Amino acid sequence: MRRIRDGHPWVYRDALRDAPQAHPGTLAALYSPGSRRPVANGFYDPKSALAFRVCDPSGARELNNAWASERLEAASLLRMRTIPPGTTGYRLVNGEGDGLPGLVIDRYGDTAVIKLDGPGPEGFWGAHGIAEFLTDRLRLAGVVRRPRDREQKPDVLTGDPPQESEFLEHGLRFTADVIQGQKTGFFLDQRENRRLMRDCCGDQTVLNLFSYTGGFSIAAGAGGAREVTSVDSAAPAIAVADRHWRLNGLPEGQHTGVVADAFAFLAEAQDAQRRWEVVIVDPPSFAPSSKSVPRAQKAYTRLIAASASVVAPDGLLAACSCSSHIDEGRFLEICGAATTEARRRARILTVAGQPADHPWPIACPELRYLKFVLMQLD
Ligand code: SAH
Repeated sequence: MRRIRDGHPWVYRDALRDAPQAHPGTLAALYSPGSRRPVANGFYDPKSALAFRVCDPSGARELNNAWASERLEAASLLRMRTIPPGTTGYRLVNGEGDGLPGLVIDRYGDTAVIKLDGPGPEGFWGAHGIAEFLTDRLRLAGVVRRPRDREQKPDVLTGDPPQESEFLEHGLRFTADVIQGQKTGFFLDQRENRRLMRDCCGDQTVLNLFSYTGGFSIAAGAGGAREVTSVDSAAPAIAVADRHWRLNGLPEGQHTGVVADAFAFLAEAQDAQRRWEVVIVDPPSFAPSSKSVPRAQKAYTRLIAASASVVAPDGLLAACSCSSHIDEGRFLEICGAATTEARRRARILTVAGQPADHPWPIACPELRYLKFVLMQLD
């Protein structure tokens, strides 16, 4: 109960004395033994390990439309205070971090994308009502809901949004495919790390591994990189990376998109003794659960070691992990083990994470998932 008062947003099923049957997302109040007043209000899903999600940690608030509008308004105001200039693509609502459990809303210019994290949030949140609120409040052209399951079709909830929604990030032009792109269409969480890399790539050769649609590549190009190579296994992502390069008026012929498995690409590059002055490696999560951490740790070490071995002398290596099960301390150990394995001495220039539009409750460090470590290698 103290954890709840400190702002922890979940009660695990194992911690509940009774777990009565109910539909996922049923409005619920949480009581501690012997208390007559609820400790917290929220919603309940007996089938989920996160059986109770806290919406109101005071236990005194009715969870009605006025409450939801207030929370959405607060999330929107926080963005107005923290989103950098020249940026119209950002996370408007980051679930638990904004006191809106399981609700994610990404904004790409005048299109918003809603994603609900599991059957509990799907049962609790009224996506249509949220879409109307967003359309009125933010004057959006359209709101789309992305299903959890990639098999299901996305729904257009309001308006007629373009599939490719254009937005700005620190003045650079990007598009997000809000219907078919990965996640909600773009990886907004790396915005400030891309901004940082932009300043480190002037006149450098840059390799961007797991590039998706070229976020880091375009930042590098805008920072004056001499030559940028983007590698991703998804052919449509590489095609968009090329398009993003042109969209930003970057010099023709200085971007090479490669559709390949990053591990195989690195093995070939090592054999051919290729080197880049800056290497960025941002793989998908290797640790979907805490059980998979030991295996993931080995996979990250192998990948970062292979990436380190193609960095030119005195070059830079930016290593990332988006797995919430690997914390910052462990990721720094991984980076240390990997550079040792590659026989490179490293110094750390920056340790960073997710930006201000991806907040997390201080009581719940599990929700701090992104790690970004920039190193210089001897
Ligand atoms: N850095 C990107 C986000 C990377 S997301 C950005 O700033 O936008 C991870 C990417 O890895 C996805 O685009 C996915 O298609 C790609 N991917 C997954 N497995 C891969 C593999 N084995 N080799 C190359 N790319 C892979």
